[in-house]
Amino acid sequence: MVKNALITGITGQDGSYLAELLLEKGYKVFGLRRRTSTPMMENIEHIKHEIELVEGDLQDQGSLIEAVKKSKPDEVYNLAAQSFVGTSWVQPVLTGQTTAIGVTNMLEAIRTARPEARFYQASSSEMFGKVVETPQRESTPFYPRSPYGVAKVYGHWITVNYRESYDMYACSGILFNHESPRRGIEFVTRKVTDAVAKIKLGLQHELRMGNLDAKRDWGFAGDYVKAMWLMLQQDQPDDYVISTGETHTVQELVEIAFRHVGLNWEDHVVIDPRFVRPAEVDLLLGDNSKARKKLGWNLEVDFEELVKMMVDSDLQKAMVNSKLEKAVAISSLQNTKA
Ligand code: NDP
Repeated sequence: MVKNALITGITGQDGSYLAELLLEKGYKVFGLRRRTSTPMMENIEHIKHEIELVEGDLQDQGSLIEAVKKSKPDEVYNLAAQSFVGTSWVQPVLTGQTTAIGVTNMLEAIRTARPEARFYQASSSEMFGKVVETPQRESTPFYPRSPYGVAKVYGHWITVNYRESYDMYACSGILFNHESPRRGIEFVTRKVTDAVAKIKLGLQHELRMGNLDAKRDWGFAGDYVKAMWLMLQQDQPDDYVISTGETHTVQELVEIAFRHVGLNWEDHVVIDPRFVRPAEVDLLLGDNSKARKKLGWNLEVDFEELVKMMVDSDLQKAMVNSKLEKAVAISSLQNTKA
């Protein structure tokens, strides 16, 4: 029997990797996509003929009910969110409406239209914020340090409450940072790898950074979406920390990325106080032992491989873009002469 899956946030990093994984497993994949003036389809361009997009917005419960009725999902993966911590300081209300209340909207849509569907909520290590214990595990108390972290704590607890109150199969994956060539450009990893590629090609000269000592537990998104799927295949719903169990500083990230293209980071990195966060989270380091033991989940890509993969991808993108720009410049010059 073919299973149906509905993914919110399908145009994002995780949504696109998860869609690929579910297609490989023979699922019929539906993706919730909100209307935007300029659609961003880059991450799912290569699979757009294999998936079905359904219009809807996490802030509009009616559209979610319709999406659930249309897709008749066996599994719903709620990945949509205002997902950037920095923006959550600029747009704290929107972040709450999408990243927090949006989860209740989705759960209510399922409860109303498809209560038997299994539900995955994309929770975050940012819920730990000011850490109470290291490493952080499923039982570690939350102390979020940003409007994003606060909204994710709400999303986490509403998921647990729907599971316990309505007997729904609902899981929350507490995922530590995970990256890939499809990571949004505003995130520090992509900011670094994109800049390194442009500096290597002579298209940019410096990289302005905030706190180089900040440490994160960074994994590869392709590995992490496998954990999401595994969570929904168990006999009982539960919550799991997904992490690498290793931390690296931003400086290590910078060093590996520059070294990969044969450059010295100290020649190009400038420290700029504008990039320091209002409230920095403490050392985030996840204990993934429950996921390894109960889900049989494993990592395949390590930190150095991840950084190199991202730099290589950004080099390709920068080369294509710069060739395109040159071609456009030459053709407009020829048009002017003619
Ligand atoms: P992205 O920012 O790449 O993707 C977010 C997605 O949410 C996009 O598809 C976006 O659509 C969609 N979206 C935003 N607002 C709405 C809305 N109001 N209605 C419908 N869709 C909306 O995030 P990631 O793929 O990196 O992360 C997936 C989830 O996992 C997020 O919830 C994130 O907070 C969480 N998470 C991520 C971690 C990470 O390290 N990547 C760590 C822990 C948790 P559009 O293209 O239109 O903008």
